[in-house]
Amino acid sequence: MAGRKLVLEGRVSIKAFILGLSVLVIPLIRTCYGHVDWVFDYLTETPGKIVICIHVAVINGLLLVAYRGPLYKVAVRACFLGVIFGCGLMISCSETTWTHFGWYLCSLSFFHYSEYLVTAIINPHSLTLDSFLLNHSVEYSLAAVSSWVEFTVEKLTFPELKQLNWLSVVGLLLVLCGEALRKAAMLTAGSNFNHIVQNEKAQSHVLVTSGVYAYFRHPSYVGWFYWSTGTQVMLCNPVCILGYTIASWRFFRERIEEEELSLIHFFTEDYVEYKKRVPTGLPFISGIRVN
Ligand code: SAH
Repeated sequence: MAGRKLVLEGRVSIKAFILGLSVLVIPLIRTCYGHVDWVFDYLTETPGKIVICIHVAVINGLLLVAYRGPLYKVAVRACFLGVIFGCGLMISCSETTWTHFGWYLCSLSFFHYSEYLVTAIINPHSLTLDSFLLNHSVEYSLAAVSSWVEFTVEKLTFPELKQLNWLSVVGLLLVLCGEALRKAAMLTAGSNFNHIVQNEKAQSHVLVTSGVYAYFRHPSYVGWFYWSTGTQVMLCNPVCILGYTIASWRFFRERIEEEELSLIHFFTEDYVEYKKRVPTGLPFISGIRVN
């Protein structure tokens, strides 16, 4: 991997993400001459909203001129995630009661963008628009919408529940550790990593047992599990904390069984030995039974 050039799509996505981040330019310039207090008003009041809409329209126009076809599709997604990350940063730095929602927007957009970028680095052959994981599944989208609804309803009815700063900090730590573990797993597994569980062994597929794989058999799932629950802890969403934990635990239990069936088929005794030595990393999930 070292020294290999990043594929064109990866390079385009970086430029487009940074272009999206340029929504921060006006607040950054103005903050240098004043206080950060005004930034939230800039985002939420009509003149600021108009400026942001014009800004987004202009950068989209630039993308349309610069890229065509599939590259435009990559660029527009990366740019959208950059805009969300920028808006999340603005909200996080403003002195409002929405700070934790700003952290959440940053976590969500960074996760989806970095899934694409890291896939472009480690396994460009498997890189598609789906590598952004934006259309992961109907359940995943429903879960995201549920968390926004819960946050808004509780913010209006029990505003003090959303101001438990210590709980949001715990959520932020879970998100940061989960994200770091997942990306460490992807970088360690390299081209053996795939967003789609492989049922046929590629010639180049080797068993990875080093780095984070020496501690957990499924480190990227462990990371994603804590990241997803962490986003809800960060938002102080009690219903979604429970819902996300149960739903993702069940999802990974099934996925691990399906994946290990193929892995035993691919690597036979080597995988069985590895399985004996190293735990899955997820609580109460031991993987497929081997007799
Ligand atoms: N479950 C792993 C990898 C997820 S990516 C984790 O959580 O980090 C899914 C792909 O990784 C599957 O196609 C599977 O065949 C492959 N895979 C899983 N564990 C592996 C390992 N230890 N070595 C090599 N490939 C592995």
